[in-house]
Amino acid sequence: MDEKYFPEQIEKKWQQRWRESRAFEASNDDPRPKFYALEMLPYPSGFLHMGHVRNYAIGDALAWYKRLQGFNVLHPIGWDSFGQPAEQAAIKRGVNPRAWTEENIAHMRGQMQRLGISYDWSREIAAHRPDYYKWDQWFFLKMLERGLAYKKNSPVNWCPKEETVLSNEQSSGGVCWRCGTVVEKRDLEQWFLRITEYADQLIAHIAQIEAGWPEKVLKRQRDWVGRSEGAYIDFAVKDSDKKIRVFTTRIDTIFGATAIVLSAEHPLLSELLEGSALKTDVSAFAEKIKKQSATRAEATEEVKEGVNTGLLAINPFSGESVPVWVANYVLMEYGTGAVMSVPAHDERDYEFAQKYSLPIRQVVAPVSHDQQKAEPTSPKGTDQSVEMTHAFTDYGVLINSGEWGGKLSEVAIREMSQFAEKRGFGKAAVTYRIRDWGVSRQRFWGAPVPVIYCENCGMVPVPYEQLPVVLPQTADFSGKGESPLAGVPEFVNTTCPNCKAPARRETDTMDTFVDSSWYFFRYCDPHNDNAPFDPEIVKQWTPVDQYIGGDSHAVMHLIYTRFWTKFMRDLGLVDFDEPVKKLLTQGMVTNRVEGTDEWKAMSKSLGNGVDPDEMIAAFGSDATRLFVLFAAPVENELRWSESGIEGAVRFLRRVYTMVWRWHERLSNRQDSVAPDQHSPEARALRRKTHQTIAKVTSDFEHLHLNTSVAALMELFNQLSDFNVDPATASPADSFVVREALESLIIMLTPFSPHAVEEMWEALGHEGGLLKANWPVADPDLARREELEIPIQVNGKLRSRVITTPDVSEEDLRAAALADDKVRVLIDGHELVKIIVVPKRLVNVVVR
Ligand SMILES: [Zn+2]
Ligand SMILES: [Zn+2]
Repeated sequence: MDEKYFPEQIEKKWQQRWRESRAFEASNDDPRPKFYALEMLPYPSGFLHMGHVRNYAIGDALAWYKRLQGFNVLHPIGWDSFGQPAEQAAIKRGVNPRAWTEENIAHMRGQMQRLGISYDWSREIAAHRPDYYKWDQWFFLKMLERGLAYKKNSPVNWCPKEETVLSNEQSSGGVCWRCGTVVEKRDLEQWFLRITEYADQLIAHIAQIEAGWPEKVLKRQRDWVGRSEGAYIDFAVKDSDKKIRVFTTRIDTIFGATAIVLSAEHPLLSELLEGSALKTDVSAFAEKIKKQSATRAEATEEVKEGVNTGLLAINPFSGESVPVWVANYVLMEYGTGAVMSVPAHDERDYEFAQKYSLPIRQVVAPVSHDQQKAEPTSPKGTDQSVEMTHAFTDYGVLINSGEWGGKLSEVAIREMSQFAEKRGFGKAAVTYRIRDWGVSRQRFWGAPVPVIYCENCGMVPVPYEQLPVVLPQTADFSGKGESPLAGVPEFVNTTCPNCKAPARRETDTMDTFVDSSWYFFRYCDPHNDNAPFDPEIVKQWTPVDQYIGGDSHAVMHLIYTRFWTKFMRDLGLVDFDEPVKKLLTQGMVTNRVEGTDEWKAMSKSLGNGVDPDEMIAAFGSDATRLFVLFAAPVENELRWSESGIEGAVRFLRRVYTMVWRWHERLSNRQDSVAPDQHSPEARALRRKTHQTIAKVTSDFEHLHLNTSVAALMELFNQLSDFNVDPATASPADSFVVREALESLIIMLTPFSPHAVEEMWEALGHEGGLLKANWPVADPDLARREELEIPIQVNGKLRSRVITTPDVSEEDLRAAALADDKVRVLIDGHELVKIIVVPKRLVNVVVR
């Protein structure tokens, strides 16, 4: 140990030692209890930003804490290395996506190592390497076998000038990112994964993770899956044997239906229009709507447009005939592609009815206080309807609804569904908002979809033994034409596995969310050549105990990985439903935008970014990490502050200097002393030490890292105030200092591990911190608050006794009489009385 704290030197030294001793490699054969700490794997853009640093610092703190607690900790990292930026770089600058990606990984790995994050690098994975994406393809084939992967027509963004498919980002603002041409929609055959099969489980299993996941994430997942309970109702088409099935969550409003509205894609439409005079007009309108179809799902605010088909449908409850319309606000993907339009009780229907002068009939009225008390048995008047200025969408009491009038919505919904089912024109049903997952990408830089097209056999899955279907080294990255893979004949041309005739490979690659759906299972068994992983090994490590990442992944990734896990369970690969026990979504890192008072997420374009490398060079990784974890609760926004990092360096330097002062004494002599020989100051320091251990331990269990640091700083301050010279300290004082200082530095490990390793070694410990144990609080020492009770003799202060707050009167009396100074004064006198004021005072009166 040097006298002065030089972070750079210390950090290099310990990073090298950790690397050489493979300190953080987790063994699959370790009898200790396991802990799986996981941070979201990064996209290798080339440079870490402060958001990454925060993410990894939190995960590393937890990993160290659990190691010191005696757990066998798995703390891996890898690369989400397929995706668009590599391909954009290829198109713009002619670089090879693979070379670009590998370079970025090398640089970012170096940054992580300079941060000293305790990853098990022997388990590193990268999505773009064939030994990884082979298993994406394997899973795809398993889904294909089970009917969970399928192809259907679906619209894409299309640049007509360059005849190429664009992603949403590449067509932002409705124009092509490269040539500015207005983007069109075009239908393409694309691959989908049937996540809707698991919609019910995605909702039902939330109960299993509710305790460990943030409610805001679960709410977004519930909304995304969008479970709604309602009913199917069949409306017979007049003068036809056809029926239009609608889905509604509000069957109680069915007497207010004044139209049936179909989606432009409704399969019955052309059949129903057969022979109609309006056929040409309606079909033309439907075609126009279909062209807008890809944008319709996103644009809920758009102007509603419709056309009357001239057909009539019969309301099975009222017998009334209502017109059938086609409109752009009804989507084939939701429900049945047909709705009953109830303008009085639905905002969209209201807007539509206003525009096309459809009748608006109120059939639900607000519940008055009286009605809430008891379910009304007889219909209230039928004429409660008033001029409506907007839809009344709440539940209420039914009016204008025949025999159902007077019933509360909740009751009517149940009874009317049962009635429809009994009469055979409907039934209660559950629908979901979630759509199947479109995984086709017309791109190079992704895992190729492993199927082959043969003229004789049609679509043929690539046999398992031929996996992986390897990406070619390069392609023509002009950004024009169909998928880049289609322009690589060595890739495209193959032979049919069935009939050996010449055949073509699929040229679509998979969405990168496929790669990230199961990557943390692969960490458990990363070099397996025969399977995605060995289920026995995965069983040891999973589910993940704590997952940490940004809340931008609340849906998509965190839904897809839950879906993938359920699929793996159905394959027999795992034996649970949910992959992640606890989830933490960390807050953003913000910085002041120069010249303003605004704090915004760090970004290149705002010029308010901070380069982690510069911070490490200037202050050290330990101080940077300590600041990041101290400055704010982990879930909250973290406001950047250079003076905050400076404060962190100062703190580490003070602790370091204290260790420097004491290290000779503490490493050369094990002073052991009975606690009752400690001075009041020494006892107070012990109490503080044990209180701090208790607090920091409990804070860590809830990832309250900032308050942990604050508690450690307080302990250090009290230790500094305990002003004892190491050279002359009594064994008792030295004992107490050791306890405080060693506890302090072990508890600092999760925040600033390099500096602490150096100090730990200086205090005479061998084998590094991995051999150390998290301190355990002694509840008696932590709890004991000492009271100092003045002892008077005949009203004059003569002595003090140290005692506990819960001391009894007798004990206090006995302690006073046993006190040496008091005894001298009362010996030989007559004891008149002893006055005890509990917790305050003892007065011995003698004569
Ligand atoms: Zn273009
Ligand atoms: Zn064939």
